[in-house]
Amino acid sequence: MFGNESNPYRNLIAGVNTIVPLKGGNFTTYINFDNAATTPPFISVVNRIVDFSQWYSSIHRGTGYKSKLSSEIYDSSRKAILDFVGGTCGKDCVIYVKNTTEAINKLSNMYKEIYGTGVILSTSMEHHSNDLPWRYKFHVDYVNIDQEGRLDLEDLEKKLQAYRGMVRLVTVTGASNVTGYKNPIHQIARLAHKYGAKILVDGAQLVPHCAVDMKPHSSPEHIDYLAFSAHKMYAPFGIGVLIGPNSIFDQCSPDYKGGGTIDVVTHDYIKWAELPDKEEAGTPNVMGVVALLESINILNSISMEYLDRYERSLAQYTYDHLSKIPDIDLYNFHKNSNDRVSIVPFNIKGLHHSQVAEILSEEAGIGVRNGCFCAQPYIQKLLNVSNEEIDERKKGNLKIRPGFVRLSFGLYNTIEEIDALIGILKKIVDNKE
Ligand code: PLP
Repeated sequence: MFGNESNPYRNLIAGVNTIVPLKGGNFTTYINFDNAATTPPFISVVNRIVDFSQWYSSIHRGTGYKSKLSSEIYDSSRKAILDFVGGTCGKDCVIYVKNTTEAINKLSNMYKEIYGTGVILSTSMEHHSNDLPWRYKFHVDYVNIDQEGRLDLEDLEKKLQAYRGMVRLVTVTGASNVTGYKNPIHQIARLAHKYGAKILVDGAQLVPHCAVDMKPHSSPEHIDYLAFSAHKMYAPFGIGVLIGPNSIFDQCSPDYKGGGTIDVVTHDYIKWAELPDKEEAGTPNVMGVVALLESINILNSISMEYLDRYERSLAQYTYDHLSKIPDIDLYNFHKNSNDRVSIVPFNIKGLHHSQVAEILSEEAGIGVRNGCFCAQPYIQKLLNVSNEEIDERKKGNLKIRPGFVRLSFGLYNTIEEIDALIGILKKIVDNKE
């Protein structure tokens, strides 16, 4: 057990004291520092799923009590989602999707249908899920990052000016899943709007870690679109959210077509259903929505401001201690914990990131992630990977990838767990040849 006393919220999480096998035949309590990938669920989320399984039924078309109850919970959930991120009831639409990736693909399909052509400004620090969906549909350009890996806002404005009104959308991550840097989304929104563009915030790493406010539509700092995934916020896989204005979503035909998406259909006529039904083809994931709602209730009761502060204090503690260990390279990404979420990437000089991650798992039961984190262009820039090396990789001649070991914390992690990590990292550094 690692610090159950020092962190009361630890008791809210399923599986924090799970025992796992180590390489030599011993066992230890698992430490999860891979929360940027997926968080474990809240216990009450699991309980809510079990409880709701007695009540749930297919929504909207059933007339039985359970169907009506399920429909009511599902439909009213959208207000709680909007309230959580400062969306506007009546103007914004919550569309349930599988995850952030599906949300962004959906929006890119909508944009293609509405606008056909134009420029999408993405950035060099995006997860592939906020880059690839836009390619082949639009001309995509990338806002540069500076030496420390932060978004270059001057370059953003330069590009907005250069494309003179052709930019449909600035699509930017709220927080990087590699460095943890938060982007100034409201400042970016102001810039985008000044040049007639809209803004999509990929909230996959932002929404689970700090308070997010989309702001009123009348504000120049309004966030037009927001996407996020439940499995990164203590709820299950398979449910995510796309939020955007009714006025835009209304203009599109559904990307998936079928049950639930239509109002009237004959063999030669279709009238699409109203929003959001027309965008949620087939029987929806009611259980996922119920679980997400429960998670949001708990996050609200803890307060996102507390969670933000606590998680950043874990990242700062880690940085302060790792920076004292010789041969640990922290790349200057962490000097200031204020404008970041709790992600700490590092390498140990002389060891490949995959070796370090493997040792942490096999010898200490610590789960991390290593590699490129679905952000290859960002990693290439951060690590100054040469064009020659990239060419060799394209030809399949280089199998070993550049990258980092990534530590990412959640609200239930503790200083005691980080101390265990520091101990094993010191040993790895001492024992390497
Ligand atoms: N965007 C960012 C910044 C992410 O970190 C991730 C996942 O790690 C995604 C998008 C994709 O999320 P999902 O796999 O839930 O679709």
